[in-house]
Amino acid sequence: MRKYLLIPLLALSLLGCRSTPQDHNQSLAGTVAPDHFTTELDRYVAGDHSKPTRWWLERTVRFNQIGFDKPGVRQRIRNALERYGDVSPETRQLAKRFKQFSVGVLVIDGNVDDAKRLPGGQIRVLFYPADQYGSHPSSLYYSQGEQAVMVAGLDWPQSFFSAALLHELWHALCNKEGRPSATASNDSDLWIGEEVDSHTIEADVLNAATDGRYYRAIGIVINQGNFSSLNSIKTEVTAEQLWQLDEALGLRTVGREITSPLVAQHLFALGLILVKELPAKERREALIGYYRVITRD
Ligand SMILES: [Zn+2]
Repeated sequence: MRKYLLIPLLALSLLGCRSTPQDHNQSLAGTVAPDHFTTELDRYVAGDHSKPTRWWLERTVRFNQIGFDKPGVRQRIRNALERYGDVSPETRQLAKRFKQFSVGVLVIDGNVDDAKRLPGGQIRVLFYPADQYGSHPSSLYYSQGEQAVMVAGLDWPQSFFSAALLHELWHALCNKEGRPSATASNDSDLWIGEEVDSHTIEADVLNAATDGRYYRAIGIVINQGNFSSLNSIKTEVTAEQLWQLDEALGLRTVGREITSPLVAQHLFALGLILVKELPAKERREALIGYYRVITRD
């Protein structure tokens, strides 16, 4: 079992959002952020993000004890696709491709107590309970092995849940369509390019969910921060600036299981907006390079 620590392993949030059968057990231990960033992350978490993790599923239970066919569970997923399906050309592809889905829960020893009997099935969304947290690479990721989006909790705020879900569905779409990026080596431009696209989708959805407040807040932070280049963001960003971005999303006090993917997304989105004026091809290349920087030891 691989232990997953939330904050010190920021890179895990970025790298861990896709799991292939080959690299699922690849150890990322030892990933250490630069001193400045580590210090700022500690301060950031010590704020309102240090409260205990809250889970929707407290322990492993059987599918039929949960009532997963309750409309509310499926509705949260449907809401994400319907409400944000028109945010960008990519989300339009997602909304079209994943009109149908199954919902299930991952039970002991990796067996899926599945929702196969439920209608749908083009994509599976599997929730795993708190007692399995240490054995998963991230609190939300796409598993190529399971052909499913794996989620740690359903009680997350709808805006964050929607954004993260659409990020992972982009990986599902690339995998199901057999795109080369889905099976490329995870240090290649192709693989990272898929991450750039999925993090961009996530940022666009968060921005749409807040009626533009997210990108406006990022613009303010960039102006205040005076970042000289993409590479300087990680060495100059402060806890106060990250809290400003939480504030814009209304996620100032979310629990620890969301903090790690949230701060990773802030870091990416700062870069995304910093280079937004570049021509598309240059921008993409710059963001691929930036992704390498923010996930580097
Ligand atoms: Zn991803």
